[in-house]
Amino acid sequence: MENLLTLLEKTFGYTSFRPGQLNIIEKILAKEPVLGIMPTGGGKSICYQLPALALPGVTLVVSPLIALMKDQVDSLQEMGVPAAFINSSLNYQEVQNRMRQARNGELKLLYVAPERLESESFQLLLESLPIDLVAIDEAHCISQWGHDFRPSYLRIPELLQGLPKTATVVALTATATPKVAEDICQLLAISPNNRVQTGFARENLAFQVVKEPKDIYLREYLKLNSGQSGIIYAATRKEVDRLYYILKDAKFSVGRYHGGLSEKERTANQEAFLFDDIQVMIATNAFGMGINKSNVRFVIHDQIPGNLESYYQEAGRAGRDGLPSEAILLFAPQDLQVQKFFIDQSQGTTEYQQQEYLKLREMEQYGHTQNCLQKYILHYFGEESGDCGRCSNCLDQREKVDVTLEAQKILSCIKRMGERFGKALVAQVLNGSKNQKVLQWHFEELSTYGLMKDWSQKDLTQLIDYLSAEGYLVASDGQFPVLKLSESGVSVLKGQQKVYRRQAQVKQLVADDALFEALRGLRSDLAQQQKLPPYMIFSDKTLQEMAEKQPQNSLEFLAINGVGQNKLDKYGADFIALINESA
Ligand code: ADP
Repeated sequence: MENLLTLLEKTFGYTSFRPGQLNIIEKILAKEPVLGIMPTGGGKSICYQLPALALPGVTLVVSPLIALMKDQVDSLQEMGVPAAFINSSLNYQEVQNRMRQARNGELKLLYVAPERLESESFQLLLESLPIDLVAIDEAHCISQWGHDFRPSYLRIPELLQGLPKTATVVALTATATPKVAEDICQLLAISPNNRVQTGFARENLAFQVVKEPKDIYLREYLKLNSGQSGIIYAATRKEVDRLYYILKDAKFSVGRYHGGLSEKERTANQEAFLFDDIQVMIATNAFGMGINKSNVRFVIHDQIPGNLESYYQEAGRAGRDGLPSEAILLFAPQDLQVQKFFIDQSQGTTEYQQQEYLKLREMEQYGHTQNCLQKYILHYFGEESGDCGRCSNCLDQREKVDVTLEAQKILSCIKRMGERFGKALVAQVLNGSKNQKVLQWHFEELSTYGLMKDWSQKDLTQLIDYLSAEGYLVASDGQFPVLKLSESGVSVLKGQQKVYRRQAQVKQLVADDALFEALRGLRSDLAQQQKLPPYMIFSDKTLQEMAEKQPQNSLEFLAINGVGQNKLDKYGADFIALINESA
């Protein structure tokens, strides 16, 4: 244990283990196959990287994404650990070189894509390597019950059988429902006793569901949090493009990423984001798997994703460094249509589609629930917890406005119009418009005509949207949805239920701090010289601690979390000089 801690400090610069890490590492070193389930940002990489250093031979890491491998290998090299990856981005000669390095014992970690395992020449190489440990990252990909099943992962059990007896396996994932976890254990012959699961909760994430007009909200949010890094997810390429253009026009530092862009453009945009050259990435879910950028301060979903597994995984990309961060869902019921469309178009069996519909319904419920959002998510993953006290539902209990009367006016108007029209016409009738369509249907004769003439069209439509989002109204499918009262809408109309509206608040995530900004500037310069993403040099959390403690010499500098020997040698002098200068 003591040796492990020394190794952790010296190489990675961390003074203690995170929950679950030591447990997993000790099992690996005792040669027991183990499954580790930890939330995103929980520190899964250390679970195999540290044993890799403690073991004499090579650790093989199976990882599904090229971007992730490169990122991890760069990080390791930055800490002075010899590592390499082999995947389809390399030419024949490069692959041969790395295989030779591995054979000669020049590498501690070798990252490979699962497809590699199918190649014969690679299997031959494996036989000649002293493999002590196989780490399987994103292990949920092995299960057909997972939301991200990869056929090439099915070769892994076979690979394991071919390994020497002294080798062991560690499977790691952030998103395993109990069923998926069971599946992984079974496929990889891991004893259920060797399942290490830390809480799924992300203590530094504040979840929010927002039912305000999206574009306005996004602009406000980005204005208040300019300078912070974030991701905005949308469900379709078209919506990504739309948001990209309006936010770019509004002079925000944004980039975009989706499958419709050329490979070259995608890579360039991704790099720009990783290097902090652009602050906000607007993307479909094609973006982010394997993006280890630790200083993402917010993840906003402009449209609801198809299930909670995807949502939690995507939202979890915020705040990997442990600093307070936000995960915001902009919830509008009509966006569910997009996901329903995806399910209908999917080639799956009826059973599969039904399962997906069920998952979508649970995702939708997340948008409606009045209870703690984190608790809702954790429950979905089979974990019970108390209220988080940070999410919008926990906080907003205080800030509710009673809009029962306004809601009744709207609901009554919809009823009187025969529940056959969309929100625009309802709003026009309520504020007494003389629009042709209003007159054509003789709606000026309704008792609700002009009942809310103090309200603007826009405010009215927003309130109607809010009532839809809260489930008091149900909208039909199609481009111009027709509004009907739901059961709860009827009980509001009868005065049996009250309606509260919660005002979403946009707040600044990070307070201004001159020294922190200066340190970020230095990091950015160094990153540029080294052609490395800034967060790989030091995380925001490490910089924040520097700004706080203001280390004056090497020893004090080494005591900062995230500073190991290698980084002290490389960067210590520059940062200490800057801190002294500003003192
Ligand atoms: P995961 O793969 O579980 O999403 P990572 O392995 O990328 O998470 O780790 C997330 C962040 O936490 C990284 O910036 C990593 O350096 C940091 N980290 C990991 N272990 C520790 C630790 N014991 N103490 C402090 N920071 C840690």
